[in-house]
Amino acid sequence: MKAVRLVQVGKPLEDAQIPVPEIGASDVLIRVAAAGICHSDAHYRENISKIDNLPVTLGHEIAGRVERVGKDVTDLAAGDRVCVHYLVHCGHCEFCRRGLEQFCRSGQMVGKHRDGGYAELIVVPAKNAFRLPNEISFEVGAIMMCSSATAFHALNNARLKPGESVAIFGFGGLGFSALQLARAFDCGPIYVVEINSAKLASVKTLEAIPIDAKAGDPVEQIRNATGGKGVDVSLELIGSAKTMRQAVQCLGPLGRAALVGLTAESMSIFPYAELINKEVEIIGVSDHLASELPALIEFAHSGKLRFPPEALRVVDLDAGQINSALDALQDSIDHVRTVIVPKS
Ligand SMILES: [Zn+2]
Ligand SMILES: [Zn+2]
Repeated sequence: MKAVRLVQVGKPLEDAQIPVPEIGASDVLIRVAAAGICHSDAHYRENISKIDNLPVTLGHEIAGRVERVGKDVTDLAAGDRVCVHYLVHCGHCEFCRRGLEQFCRSGQMVGKHRDGGYAELIVVPAKNAFRLPNEISFEVGAIMMCSSATAFHALNNARLKPGESVAIFGFGGLGFSALQLARAFDCGPIYVVEINSAKLASVKTLEAIPIDAKAGDPVEQIRNATGGKGVDVSLELIGSAKTMRQAVQCLGPLGRAALVGLTAESMSIFPYAELINKEVEIIGVSDHLASELPALIEFAHSGKLRFPPEALRVVDLDAGQINSALDALQDSIDHVRTVIVPKS
């Protein structure tokens, strides 16, 4: 079968012909119908995130049709439409038993530690394949499995309750999903902090409140807009110490800051004035849980989470086209997502 693989870090991905993977008793073989091209794939290619088991087929945002099932698989059959949870976990360690598989000691990420979806076919354990309703396209099913799932996990970790106000720092793919999902939680006002004017304009069309960080301190702007109180929940989706600090400072009493963006910088706060006095919480967010995916898929099914067709661009399963898409991702400022749709 055809696959597009990372053979050497720092080099373009390569077209390859590899054997169709073997399936185990509890696995499913899926014919890939759509595979999202993600920022993390660009990071693997550039060696910003390390991969040490090369060559490997990238791609962790996957939807398709079940082609064949292992002999122990009873809840899926050939022809079923599915999307893929990208964390393959052991299922029996102390974390897996508690449903916290992102901490599994032997966990593997699809498209990093094992072959991913930039291919005609992929094998995953059946427990990683979630039914995709007919009304959700394969393209949307694929891209939901990464940034939308993580945005959802951030809101769950922050324990967002109906009516509570939210500040979102950064309006990329995560922010776009986070805004819609926060609304699906029936939240109060949503403030979106950005510096990009096109993104700030799109915040307005989504009926949230744009906060232009270039026009002045976003913390002060949020305080003014909330009558001095601050917000109940903030999400930091950028990955900078500066905006992480702002995400803590903009909270009101009992507020929760969920930090999602990645950075190697250290961050400082004033413990008494900014944390203890207000009993606020700073919460780390990493990936998402399999148990969250059915609710996420239902939000897409009911139209609460939407990706307008103009936000999707399609390329072939072709190394040249995929490399160009990865190049373009580095400096993209829009919400357009590129999805690989292999020609059948
Ligand atoms: Zn991704
Ligand atoms: Zn485990």
